[in-house]
Amino acid sequence: MANFETVVVETDLLILGGGMAACGAAVEAAYWAKQNGLKVTLVDKAAVDRSGAVAMGLSAINQYVGLRDGANTVQDYVNYVRNDLMGITREDLVANIARHVDSTVHLFEKWGLPIWTDENGAYVHEGRWQLMINGESYKVVVAEAAKNALLASGVGEIFERVFIVGPLMDGDRCAGAVGFSVRENKFYTFRAKATLVAMGGAVHVFKPRSSGEGMGRAWYPPWNSGSSAYFTIQAGAEMTCQEVRFIPVRFKDAYGPVGAWFLLFKSRATNSQGGDYMVERRPELENWAPYGRVKPVPANLRNYLGMLDIMAGKGPIYMRTEEALGKIADAYKDDEKAYKKKMRELESEAWEDFLDMTISQAILWAATNLQPEERSSEIAAAEPYFIGSHSGASGAWVSGPEDLQTPETKAEYFWGYGHMATVKGLFCAGDASGASSHKFSSGSHAEGRIAAKEAVKFILDHNTLPKTDAAAIEALKAQILKPLDVYEQHKAGTTDPEINPNYMKPRMFMFRLQKIMDEYAGGITAQFTTNEALLKRGLELLAFLKEDSENLAAADLHELMRCWENMHRMWQAEAHVRTVLFREETRWPGYYFRADKPKMDEEKWHVFANCKYDPEAGSWEMLTRPILHVFPQGG
Ligand SMILES: Cc1cc2nc3c(=O)[nH]c(=O)nc-3n(C[C@H](O)[C@H](O)[C@H](O)COP(=O)(O)OP(=O)(O)OC[C@H]3O[C@@H](n4cnc5c(N)ncnc54)[C@H](O)[C@@H]3O)c2cc1C
Repeated sequence: MANFETVVVETDLLILGGGMAACGAAVEAAYWAKQNGLKVTLVDKAAVDRSGAVAMGLSAINQYVGLRDGANTVQDYVNYVRNDLMGITREDLVANIARHVDSTVHLFEKWGLPIWTDENGAYVHEGRWQLMINGESYKVVVAEAAKNALLASGVGEIFERVFIVGPLMDGDRCAGAVGFSVRENKFYTFRAKATLVAMGGAVHVFKPRSSGEGMGRAWYPPWNSGSSAYFTIQAGAEMTCQEVRFIPVRFKDAYGPVGAWFLLFKSRATNSQGGDYMVERRPELENWAPYGRVKPVPANLRNYLGMLDIMAGKGPIYMRTEEALGKIADAYKDDEKAYKKKMRELESEAWEDFLDMTISQAILWAATNLQPEERSSEIAAAEPYFIGSHSGASGAWVSGPEDLQTPETKAEYFWGYGHMATVKGLFCAGDASGASSHKFSSGSHAEGRIAAKEAVKFILDHNTLPKTDAAAIEALKAQILKPLDVYEQHKAGTTDPEINPNYMKPRMFMFRLQKIMDEYAGGITAQFTTNEALLKRGLELLAFLKEDSENLAAADLHELMRCWENMHRMWQAEAHVRTVLFREETRWPGYYFRADKPKMDEEKWHVFANCKYDPEAGSWEMLTRPILHVFPQGG
């Protein structure tokens, strides 16, 4: 085995990830740790300042309920989320986050995040729930607060550039995690009384639109690779909504955000013939009632109407930037100077929107001489992603808060500690926890705070370090480092280290995974369409891929990380295919379409489709869980 030092870290609360949810967890945990004499350890595969989906910055905070102004109620937010997810949502979880999220946003502001205000000092809204920010340093601001909370108070420690591979178990209790440094030959064993998973969602499970020279350019950050899903699946946790992938429609090729265009600038999207699919195809929404009838139209249905135009040969679809900016400036048309000033202001807002969070879109505009006030830009549906905190919903099945349960929901949705998975001592937040979409950056941070507080409660009730087995850890170490050994053993077998009959490099492995998912599970080349036969064949091919994963090879630590990222993706892929197969209906056209079950079946499938892997038996169980209401339906 490669020569690796083993580092053992013992802690009370282990936070995995350094993104929005983990930073929220760090702030909250530090407070409670200080009160109770506990230690908190945070581990990120990257550097917390610029890790996770917010790394590049954002131009809006997408969840702000506005409770203090009486602008909305928690129930309003629940209604919005329930409808957007076509009825499949855990109201208790969504409500729990919604009632706390505003305080998180106020903390961001206190820490120095510039939130736009109008002449009366009120927040500038992009839409009903979204606030405009100068957000290029959003992640740095949030990370600084987390680091200060953990390090300055002396209760915590942070490990950066340590890649977490999987869980350590003590029977049915999570006992911590194992991983390795991506910079030094060090294998890490983290032993903890409670573990909070916040390692984001997954990209590059499906073949991306951008391949070849564009490889790596995706809507979702390339470094979130399904580690949360792998961790919770391998711990034996029940998973939910694994069929719900998210397909964002974004500016084509550079994936620039569309929120500011649709919501702030009130832009339309039209096909190449000038037709507005949201108007022309409105009758189609009736087929997806009651959800199709509600405003705003669910994201997947908006996607679907545009896709119908594409499939009818009416592409490309354009964001009508020139029309939108022109309309706003029109109010000043009688005053030439004021008109010019307004146009300049709008133009700079348009560029800033991209510079705040998707710089490559601004570069693409510049490279193609595109002036948004003069010419429309193409938009397109991206490849599928797993991001339970945004408009997807996949993640672990977690306990809700006790005080929001009705007697009926309590039996199904509550098992002791809020945001704890079905495995003892294993907590989840952000993309890692499922069935509570539309948390976004602020809600993920809020959920991290809630989950950390609950994890501390768990620790105080179970204040012993779970047992770990030295032999089992040695076996895990050998398994995790194996790709380095495989490479060393066989590298001399060929002149090109990329091609060798005895091993597969992670890049090739990823291409194979992406091809399977693209062609059999409804990726872009299949127009997001699949059926039972395709899914079953996809599962067969995934089984061969899993066999071949034994022969993954890594020339260095970076490739070792790539190997494990792809293993994580493969398990996310399997959970997805199994659940799409299990749910025998089409509920989210625009995200995926089951051609053999083309309609929504409210009677049979108005339920959660859950799955659970048994690591001992190596088998999956598929099950349904009821959808129960905490708030009156439609209220
Ligand atoms: C392109 C894009 C645009 C968005 N726009 C907005 C917006 O405008 N407004 C808004 O409010 N929200 C927006 N969101 C949503 C928001 O970014 C997410 O909801 C939020 O970041 C989720 O938080 P998280 O902690 O679950 O994941 P992340 O913030 O992504 O953090 C994941 C963390 O896990 C770490 N990690 C991953 N794997 C491992 C591993 N194996 N070992 C150790 N660490 C690991 C990563 O390094 C990272 O620190 C957007 C998201 C995307 C992708």
